[in-house]
Amino acid sequence: MNKQLARKSAKDTNTIVQIGDVQIGGREIVLIAGPCAIESEEQLITSGNHLKQSGVSILRASAFKPRTSPYSFQGLGIEGLKMHQKAQKEHGLLTTTEVMDVRLVDIASEHVDMLWIGARNMQNFDLLKEIGKSKKPVILKRASSATVEEWIQSAEYIMAHGNPNVILCERGIRTFETSTRYTLDLGAVAVAKLLTHLPIIVDPSHAAGRPDIIAALCKAAIAIGADGVIVEAHPNPKESVCDAAQALSLEEFHQIAEELRPIAQSVGRRLKC
Ligand code: PEP
Ligand code: MN
Repeated sequence: MNKQLARKSAKDTNTIVQIGDVQIGGREIVLIAGPCAIESEEQLITSGNHLKQSGVSILRASAFKPRTSPYSFQGLGIEGLKMHQKAQKEHGLLTTTEVMDVRLVDIASEHVDMLWIGARNMQNFDLLKEIGKSKKPVILKRASSATVEEWIQSAEYIMAHGNPNVILCERGIRTFETSTRYTLDLGAVAVAKLLTHLPIIVDPSHAAGRPDIIAALCKAAIAIGADGVIVEAHPNPKESVCDAAQALSLEEFHQIAEELRPIAQSVGRRLKC
């Protein structure tokens, strides 16, 4: 049997994923922003309090970090999850973390409002199945070497195991180009929009690897039909324990969010808040 749950042929309306009072995939463009990694409760509170003034609905910050080198900071783990939950009482935003290990899906789900599957785990099929069983809203990042077809098949794994709350995320692919960390594939966003009914967001931060083109990439993402963006912003970017080179300051993010309002309007959408 070939059900292909993620395809347009399976459903004639676009999927709207509901996370608390936030809808991804509806008329509103959703802003997700925050540090790469959870570093402290104070860092999360400062980030959340600033970012909510910029219209951000969901605070990103991960307790688990997939690092190229085993000697790099690996994330605060379960302690970090607890910090996310405690800080939320202060800033009030919804929260999300990456999860990399099937054994940690349940505990991560108890502490945050949404999970994300990082690019390096897009084809970790056991993880996809486990998150499928959990029903938790989840962002599925495209692997840096995956075709659009492979990306959609990974979404299919999550959906086939019972979880319809999948949000696709384009975060850049590996090409010959070296002026950016990866190459943001906005064409893939347009193609995926034609093929699936799932919401699609764009991560310009990991694609760019530099802060100075994030505004332009966010604008282009919204113009091409993305349902939101997920951006790295840190109270003190230079001090970020992870991905410092691409992090925006909270003030820089605020400025970008303002510039996105008219872009959203020009394509018949609006920014949430
Ligand atoms: C991240 O969002 O911090 C991250 C590690 O992203 P990706 O999996 O896209 O590299
Ligand atoms: Mn990062």
